[in-house]
Amino acid sequence: MPPTASEIAANLADIRSRIHSAAARAGRHPDAIRLIAVSKRMPAEYVLMAIAAGQFRFGESTVQEAQTKQALIDDPRTEWHFIGHLQTNKLKAIPGNFAWLHTLDTLRLAERLSGAASDAGCVINVLLQVNVANDPAKHGLPAKRVFSFVDSLLAADLAGIRLRGLMTIGRQDAVPGDRRGEFAALHELATACAERFGSASFSELSMGMSADFEQAIAEGATMVRVGSALFGARNARHRISRPSSN
Ligand SMILES: *Cc1c(COP(=O)(O)O)cnc(C)c1O
Repeated sequence: MPPTASEIAANLADIRSRIHSAAARAGRHPDAIRLIAVSKRMPAEYVLMAIAAGQFRFGESTVQEAQTKQALIDDPRTEWHFIGHLQTNKLKAIPGNFAWLHTLDTLRLAERLSGAASDAGCVINVLLQVNVANDPAKHGLPAKRVFSFVDSLLAADLAGIRLRGLMTIGRQDAVPGDRRGEFAALHELATACAERFGSASFSELSMGMSADFEQAIAEGATMVRVGSALFGARNARHRISRPSSN
């Protein structure tokens, strides 16, 4: 059953209240945590329902699907976050369409993205994706390579990108309830990076999804990426890259 507008509004209110409670329990201000509504594999009409309920930040993981939706939605209040693995041949479409990229993990990608942003006359906010759990099936930098990566990134002096912090996806097969160690490790790494390279480039921590965003907030998340808790399960019907016409 597809969700109705009022269900999406109710889910959103519930997620926001859980964010507030998790922030309060951690002694943090709720405004320090931004909700990224992950709309991947969901039709544009759901995004419009979320916008009507007051949600403006959205996460997408493929360029083509995002562009199709963005063209239909075309609302200047929206802010788009790219959270998927980026293929370099799709990268030119990122600046201008996305304010943030959460998945930087190679210097080559950084250079090409910066060039594309400069060509488009904008600057894109980036987060380094860290493979905290050292999961061989996952993209992202191993934690132990982050310092040297940032050294090379700073040496390359790329004007089109602005480094803002770290992101992790983490193990997917982990038993829910046991993610705090990974989140704490990412926070520790960000603190170490801030000491070494300056806090301006390491103030953001993108971590936590539907199953574990409260744990991520307890460990310092500033951005939580929530999809299924807001829009419902992503079933095969939503795998199509174009929203169904109706
Ligand atoms: C799909 C996805 C999410 C959202 O996952 P849910 O469990 O549906 O909340 C968050 N982050 C990334 C990188 C994703 O690919």
